[in-house]
Amino acid sequence: MPMIRENVRRILKEIPEEVILLAATKGRRVDEIMEAIDAGVRVIGENYVQEAARKYNEIGKRVEWHFIGHLQRNKVKKACEIFDVIETIHNEKIAKEIDKRCHAMDKIMPVMIEINSGREENKSGVYPENALSLAEFVYSLENVRLVGVMTMGPLVDEPEKIRPYFRLTREIFERMREEFGDEIKYLSMGMSDTYRIAIEEGANIIRVGTAIFGPRQKQ
Ligand SMILES: *Cc1c(COP(=O)(O)O)cnc(C)c1O
Repeated sequence: MPMIRENVRRILKEIPEEVILLAATKGRRVDEIMEAIDAGVRVIGENYVQEAARKYNEIGKRVEWHFIGHLQRNKVKKACEIFDVIETIHNEKIAKEIDKRCHAMDKIMPVMIEINSGREENKSGVYPENALSLAEFVYSLENVRLVGVMTMGPLVDEPEKIRPYFRLTREIFERMREEFGDEIKYLSMGMSDTYRIAIEEGANIIRVGTAIFGPRQKQ
């Protein structure tokens, strides 16, 4: 447990002040997450709505909650109750559903578009060439607000190999800023092994799990 505290402090010291350290907390216990929060984490990211709801009851609004998983339609209502930002909009249908649910709650949801930067069939996110038209659709909705883009990128054996995918995502981010202005402010990319490269390529949200909490247990 003291490791978690040290890891957070070390990473926070290492990264530029304007970069947000999002702790990716899937599979982690509430006491582990609280340790990270005590050490300075201000944003946490969860992949599963159900799991997040359980933790939210204990942790509450002391941190900002980002959804970073694959959102299913039947979980949108609950997600809109819990999360402050949804980072993984991948098609019009899910954006429309979020808009509808948030309208009923009288809430405006900040959202980001997930780019499938590696063009992988089995991965979520919109292909790069379709990102702008999805952005235009999202921008037209009343109860969602487009605030950025995120990408995972393909699994690589050396961190350096992910750089072209981050660079491509950065280009999409810049194009969206040209079209929609500086309301588009977040570029979320980089994980435990790749966050340094992501920051070099312009990321201002990095999503870090194992480098904070240690290796994940096999479920
Ligand atoms: C788990 C996860 C991370 C963090 O991965 P680590 O390699 O543990 O740092 C980042 N982003 C997403 C979407 C994740 O699911």
